[in-house]
Amino acid sequence: MKIPASRLDRGFFQHQAEYEAKALEVLRSGWYVLGQEVSAFEEEFGAYLGCDHVVGLNSGLDALILAFRALGVGEGDEVLVQGNTYIASVMGISINGATPVFVEPNDYHNLDVSDLAGKITEKTKAILVVHLYGQSSEMGEILALAKKHELYVVEDCAQSHGATVDGQMTGTLGDIGCFSFFPTKTLGAFGDGGCVATSSPELAERIRTLRNYGSSQRYYFDEVGMNSRLDEMQAGLLRVRLSYMDEMRVEREKLAEFYSKHMQNPWVILPQVAEGATAVWHQYVVLCEEREALMAHLATKEIGTLIHYPQPPHLSQAYAYLQIPKGSLPKTEALADKVLSLPFYLGMTEEEQIYVVDAVNGFRLG
Ligand SMILES: *Cc1c(COP(=O)(O)O)cnc(C)c1O
Repeated sequence: MKIPASRLDRGFFQHQAEYEAKALEVLRSGWYVLGQEVSAFEEEFGAYLGCDHVVGLNSGLDALILAFRALGVGEGDEVLVQGNTYIASVMGISINGATPVFVEPNDYHNLDVSDLAGKITEKTKAILVVHLYGQSSEMGEILALAKKHELYVVEDCAQSHGATVDGQMTGTLGDIGCFSFFPTKTLGAFGDGGCVATSSPELAERIRTLRNYGSSQRYYFDEVGMNSRLDEMQAGLLRVRLSYMDEMRVEREKLAEFYSKHMQNPWVILPQVAEGATAVWHQYVVLCEEREALMAHLATKEIGTLIHYPQPPHLSQAYAYLQIPKGSLPKTEALADKVLSLPFYLGMTEEEQIYVVDAVNGFRLG
């Protein structure tokens, strides 16, 4: 049986008629960028999050870029971020001219709070918290530390739509929450998209202006902005998908439970959820000392896997200029050699899951 690491068609077919009807509605409306679908989506996603202001954007990266820009974090400033994140988190910081300072992850792939305090300097302006793989971070301790040192907290929720901390949605705990709607994410569009969420009307207004060339009044420009608008098609399709958020969350929980219940192999360490955290299972990530062998074993059975992520940002060519030598972040670097994302997608059948479980359980070393 051929099982790709991810397949997006299944999620589409679950509600095909509604997506197609919405697509036609938008096509026939004669209005395609920043219109009533975007406004309605912003309202509805805000209600879902329990947050007053949502501003639709072109991508998750743009959300991060504009969040730091609106907060005035730039040249000469440092931002703390975990070392084991997707490169976009780091680019959101560095594109503004600020310097990323990497913190080690804990056993749940999230920021290790015990490594945070020691890395705060005079220049530190903000902490970027990434709720990686869909599991919420230890926000209580992070927010307390941020308050003590007067730091902004930005949340990268590109993988954590719907994950909570003490019943409160990730993305609403810090100053600004940044979301991506890339098709693979837990709230995925059918193209690129993103947004910021904030309780601050001023920050929301500033980002609303910046997303449209810095214009608050048509053809008058307050500052040099960007073109980072969410289009009507994506917003309309996102509204359909958002209405199934609970259904999707429950399905992902069931898929993860099934894997965790049936997978048993001493060489494969299964993902854990920290006490007090919730996970929306953006990925199901196992650890294996002999990851390449496990990948090859699964590949012989036509099971696709992915590595999120094989190279930590500090070791990438893009950030060679930071001159952070290999070995500086041992835990981050070790994880990059061990993590493996198993096939995991909406619409995955039990038969497919059993096939993957049997293949993983049948993996032997040597
Ligand atoms: C996907 C992702 C982003 C970037 O989102 P795009 O919409 O692809 O720009 C940022 N951070 C994390 C953790 C992501 O997974």
